Amino acid sequence: MGRRSWFLFHSMAAKYPEYPSEDDIQAMHNLVATLGQLYPCKLCRLHLREQLRDPSLLPVTFSSRTETTTWWCKLHNIVNADLGKPQFDCNPFALDLVYLKDCGECDPRKKAPKSSKTGGKLDGPRTGPWDSYLYSRDELLFSSVKTPGDQLIARDISDLISAMTVFNDLFGVFSKSELRLVEAEITESPELRNKWFDELMIRLGPELEVFRVEEDDDEDDDDWDDWGEESERGDETHRDEL
Ligand SMILES: Cc1cc2nc3c(=O)[nH]c(=O)nc-3n(C[C@H](O)[C@H](O)[C@H](O)COP(=O)(O)OP(=O)(O)OC[C@H]3O[C@@H](n4cnc5c(N)ncnc54)[C@H](O)[C@@H]3O)c2cc1C
Repeated sequence: MGRRSWFLFHSMAAKYPEYPSEDDIQAMHNLVATLGQLYPCKLCRLHLREQLRDPSLLPVTFSSRTETTTWWCKLHNIVNADLGKPQFDCNPFALDLVYLKDCGECDPRKKAPKSSKTGGKLDGPRTGPWDSYLYSRDELLFSSVKTPGDQLIARDISDLISAMTVFNDLFGVFSKSELRLVEAEITESPELRNKWFDELMIRLGPELEVFRVEEDDDEDDDDWDDWGEESERGDETHRDEL
């Protein structure tokens, strides 16, 4: 399993985009986090949780393909070192020679017969734009997305629900069943989004009042800024006098 797993990770790194999107970067971080959480060999997983703290692996931004291929090579070398195995050359060109090749096994033609569930091609309920952010947050909402327009609305819905959940954790403005109802209603009819946004604002009203009072307090702090400016001006005058 270790050998095959490494091949997958190094190959994913080799084919990582030269200019990754925010979603690519997040997905790579999630992959590493998933290994620390779920790698199927328990002892390896426990070791990995320590190895991922190694200063030579930190910080990692996954903001380019080269950074990503060498990061995986360094991680593998740390595991190699812990197991008393030889170190591998992490030169990006050498890594590309080994891992940047055709997958081989994937046949681009669909072989499913016309009578199969998908009729030999992907369409109907299975089509739509890919959105890893949405999928990881809410796979049901993701599955309802059929067009780029749906995708924008679904992201807004997902953000609104997240905001509601956060405010709920902080201030308990909605009950859990209400939140589920909101999600179902907005997914069914996106135009209800504004209604629920307004409702959120109304229910948060008293809590927002507190912030408003704090903001007013901040305005008083401006006096201190003025004081600072005056004091600097004073210094200048003093310097001029000198
Ligand atoms: C995330 C993870 C954690 C693991 N933790 C443990 C553990 O704690 N204890 C344990 O006993 N086993 C662990 N393993 C398994 C271990 O790393 C080996 O896969 C296993 O021992 C088989 O070793 P191997 O000699 O076949 O070569 P592997 O280490 O599996 O390497 C396969 C091939 O990859 C190439 N390679 C070697 N090093 C690198 C590198 N740095 N960069 C790129 N390519 C390289 C070489 O061509 C090598 O033949 C872990 C595996 C993984 C994926």
